[in-house]
Amino acid sequence: MQQTDYNPFENAQAQFDKVAELLNLDSGTRELLRQPMKEFHFTIPVKMDDGTTKVFKGFRIRHNDARGPAKGGIRFHPHETADTVRALSMWMTWKCAVVDIPLGGGKGGVICDPRTMSAGEQERLCRGFMRALAPHVGPNADVPAPDVMTNGQHMVWMLDEYETISGARYPGVITGKPVGMGGSLGRTEATGYGVIYTLKELCERMNMPVESTTASFQGFGNVAEYAARMYTELGGKVIAVSCWNQADKTAYTYKKAEGCDIAQLVTIKDSFGNIDKTKAQSLGYEILPGEAWLSQDVDILVPAALENQITPAVFPNIKDSVKIICEAANGPVTPDCDPLIRDKGIMIIPDFLCNAGGVTCSYFEQVQCNMNYFWDKKEVLDKLEYAMKKAFAAVYDIALEKNLFMRDAAYVIAIKRVAEAVKLRGWV
Ligand code: GLU
Repeated sequence: MQQTDYNPFENAQAQFDKVAELLNLDSGTRELLRQPMKEFHFTIPVKMDDGTTKVFKGFRIRHNDARGPAKGGIRFHPHETADTVRALSMWMTWKCAVVDIPLGGGKGGVICDPRTMSAGEQERLCRGFMRALAPHVGPNADVPAPDVMTNGQHMVWMLDEYETISGARYPGVITGKPVGMGGSLGRTEATGYGVIYTLKELCERMNMPVESTTASFQGFGNVAEYAARMYTELGGKVIAVSCWNQADKTAYTYKKAEGCDIAQLVTIKDSFGNIDKTKAQSLGYEILPGEAWLSQDVDILVPAALENQITPAVFPNIKDSVKIICEAANGPVTPDCDPLIRDKGIMIIPDFLCNAGGVTCSYFEQVQCNMNYFWDKKEVLDKLEYAMKKAFAAVYDIALEKNLFMRDAAYVIAIKRVAEAVKLRGWV
């Protein structure tokens, strides 16, 4: 149900322009920050299992590295575009800045569908991706990580290729690695948990105990899974989860009015977050159309899939019961929908704050790799919760003080920090 008529890069620029105007940013800084600094576009020939060679298109885009090495994931998706990667790289800059970690923004992508590729084909694609990029990434330059449809195994193949080319061990070149291979405990859970750390903070300020709330999720990949797990552990009730069904090439919403058993749903999903429809049916789930996740009578909506999902066209389907939208995905709400959300009095936890737990833990992973000393899980998660709470409080306070929409308040903080860095460096 992705709305393809929206261009994520134009959305990202529209969001930036609005706040740049509010901050009265000078024209040089505006020009610099409203586009990526560097782009790599390349082809990746891959020998397929049937003996043919398929040529994939890859991107790595660096939006800004004034505050530190560029940081951001790599997405594998059949609908990937350069403009999507541009937008995502820009959002990474703001994400790292809003949680105040010393990193810039970058993003990568490959136009491919890993769901239809064998493990060997995926490994050769990962190695080809890194071969094309090896001169341009590195622990002090640009550090990739997992994102949509990529995982720890993909990261290790890329790491191994980079280290083979470089002739030494550089565990800090990539994050989201498996534990024992330079990965950090808590990294798998970090993005989803981070979403709920911010939600908990907002619920407290709204005098709305989490345990009395209900939620509906879009997506059941890594982020949604761990967000839903923590949310239900806190006593919240997930009424519905929607996700893609590869066999039917369509999305479905799985509903249980008395509350979904998240641990059970996890046992019937694949590694890409596709729930087995037949098994869900036999477990008593009601199967609804994919878009039904949005029209549930719940307190909280958690879009945790792709960009451009909540638009003015579908906004009327949101029930009056909804009080919070937690943007676990990147760019799920289009800029033209923000005013409708604000007018309806729905609070939003903006994406680059809400889902910043992943990159914050990636930063911890880098620190641990550099020290070659790994922390226990509690230490990682305590530090993560602290960072997320602190960032949330700063955004919430500005929103309150200046009567700003939460997204704009987050932008004010992030843009100010990056604008100051480019000024201090003498770039503008
Ligand atoms: N892909 C994640 C994001 O969009 C994590 C990025 C990272 O860890 O570098 O925030």
